[in-house]
Amino acid sequence: MSVMAIAALPVGMISFEVFRASRSSRRNRENRCGKCGGPLYAPGAVVGPSLLQGHLVCEPCAAKERRSLKRSLIAAGSITALTVLALATVAIWTPSQLGSHPWLPVIVTALEYPAIFGGAVAWMKRANRRAAQRLGLETQPSLSTRNDTTLAPNHSERWTPDSDPPAG
Ligand SMILES: [Zn+2]
Repeated sequence: MSVMAIAALPVGMISFEVFRASRSSRRNRENRCGKCGGPLYAPGAVVGPSLLQGHLVCEPCAAKERRSLKRSLIAAGSITALTVLALATVAIWTPSQLGSHPWLPVIVTALEYPAIFGGAVAWMKRANRRAAQRLGLETQPSLSTRNDTTLAPNHSERWTPDSDPPAG
């Protein structure tokens, strides 16, 4: 396994997410669910559409997506840990397999994977916040994404310049 292949895997996963995001935007413009393409107000659903990763989805999709998001985070962590472990094992036992720098793939994986997965999460949160502002939505308190889309001015976690100056 080359360093290129290791680096390319998360990039491919992110590219797929970007593709899905553009498809969702197109569907949202047509007042359709960004995920399944059906009506935003799904028949039989008690609540209206939810904002997820910067796009409006119908409630059945939102419930599904919230569960799968948690699973993907766990998967991302496991993939990183297992890849680092596997590469470290090879680096220790058969360093000749990995060329003159056997620890390089380990370091690349340990640094790149968390950075990319973390970046993806940050990007999704930002997209969600911006979408909420654009749509002027008040998100329901029952949503697990409420921390991502807080619009209330008296949010307790809001940082003010004179409350806690960062140590320089
Ligand atoms: Zn849907």
